[in-house]
Amino acid sequence: MTTVGVLGGGQLGMMLAQAATGIGVRCRFLDPNHASPAGREGELIVADYDDPEALARLCAGADAATCEFENVPASAASFVSQRVRFVPGAAALETAQERYRENALFADLGVPTPAFAPVDDLSEMVPALERVGLPAVCKTRRMGYDGKGQFIVRDMRDAPKAWTALGQRPLLFEQLVEFQRELSIIAVRGADGSEAFYPLVENHHEGGILRLTIAPAPGVSAELQAEAEGIARRVLEALGYIGVLTVELFHCPGAEPELLANEMAPRVHNSGHWTIEGAECSQFENHIRACVGMDLGPARPKGPSAMINILGAMPPEPALREIGSLDGVFVHSYGKAERPGRKIGHITVVAGDEASRDETTRRVLDLSGIADPGAHP
Ligand code: AMP
Repeated sequence: MTTVGVLGGGQLGMMLAQAATGIGVRCRFLDPNHASPAGREGELIVADYDDPEALARLCAGADAATCEFENVPASAASFVSQRVRFVPGAAALETAQERYRENALFADLGVPTPAFAPVDDLSEMVPALERVGLPAVCKTRRMGYDGKGQFIVRDMRDAPKAWTALGQRPLLFEQLVEFQRELSIIAVRGADGSEAFYPLVENHHEGGILRLTIAPAPGVSAELQAEAEGIARRVLEALGYIGVLTVELFHCPGAEPELLANEMAPRVHNSGHWTIEGAECSQFENHIRACVGMDLGPARPKGPSAMINILGAMPPEPALREIGSLDGVFVHSYGKAERPGRKIGHITVVAGDEASRDETTRRVLDLSGIADPGAHP
C-alpha cells in the first residue's frame, strides 16, 4: 500500500491520515508523545525526532515523507530527504523556521510585507526601529507561534525592554500594521507542478490563537483573490515547492498594496480545516496527493463555510449533541487531554448561502459558550 511517513503526530497528522485513507494511502507517524492524536489513525513510532533508528523506520518502504509542523530539526529533515521524497523539502522548512529569512524571501520575490529589519544585538535596535518606524512589533526569529515571542515597542526608550523580554537573541522588527482583517490563502502544488488555490479566508484570533475562520472571506473581489494567488504562486515556484503551503496576510483596504504577507506555514493549516467538508477536495487530501504524485483535486468550495476552534474543553452535554445535530454542522474531536487554551477539536459549518452559514455559526458559538469573535462592535 502507498505509504507516507509523517514527522509529527498531532491533529494535523490525524486529519492527513483520515484523508489519505479515502484515497488508498496510509500514513505512518513519528512523534515523541505516545498520546499523539495521529496514533488513532495510523502506526505511531514513539521516539525523538533525532533518533536515527526511528527515522529509518519511518522511511522504511515509504513512498514519500512529510511533516505536520514546521520546526522539524534540520538533521531529521536531511536524514529523511536522503531516503525518500520529502515534501515540502528542506529549503521550504529552513525558510519558514526563521522569520527574517521568510520576510527576505518575500522581499526578493516582490511580495509586499510590513517594513522589517533584522536585529542581532542590542546596538542594532535603534537603527532598526528608525528603519521600520514606531510602533513596531519585535519578534523572535525562531520558534514563535500563536503570537508568542512578540513585544510591541511604542517608544524608543522601550527598545532594551524588548531585547530582555524576548531573551536577548536574534530578532525581527516589523512595522505595526493597521490592518482591517487577517486573511490566509492555502495553496497546493503537485509533483507535476500543477497548482490549486483555495479561496481567501478570514481569520479571527483570541489571545493569539485562531478561534474562527470564515470561508470564503466575505467581500473578496476576483482581483484580491488573484493578488493572493499570485503571492502564494511566487513562493511555491521559487522554492520548487510540493504540497500545501499557507500564507497569512494582512488586509489593508484602501492601501496600495492591499495585501501584506505576514508569514507562511509550509504545511496544512488550521485555517484550512473547513476544507474537509467545505471544499471538493480538502487541504489534507491534496497534500497527500501532492506527496505521492497523484493529480490534485479541485479546491472549489462547496458552499459558504465557517470553522470554530474548540479550545481547552469540548462543549458540555447536552449542548454538544445539539451542535452535532444541526444541519451542515460537523464536530471533530482530536481525543486530546483537556487543558486551558489547547486546541482539542473544531466544528465546521457548511451552508447553502452566507446568511444561513452566519446564523448556524452564531448558534454553534452560542451553544459552545463562545463570545462571537467575528462580531464587530
Ligand atoms: P505571527 O506570529 O507573526 O502570526 O503574529 C501573531 C499575530 O500578531 C498576528 O496574527 C497579528 O494579529 C499580529 N501581528 C504580527 N505581526 C504584525 C504586524 N507587523 N503588524 C500588526 N500586527 C501584527
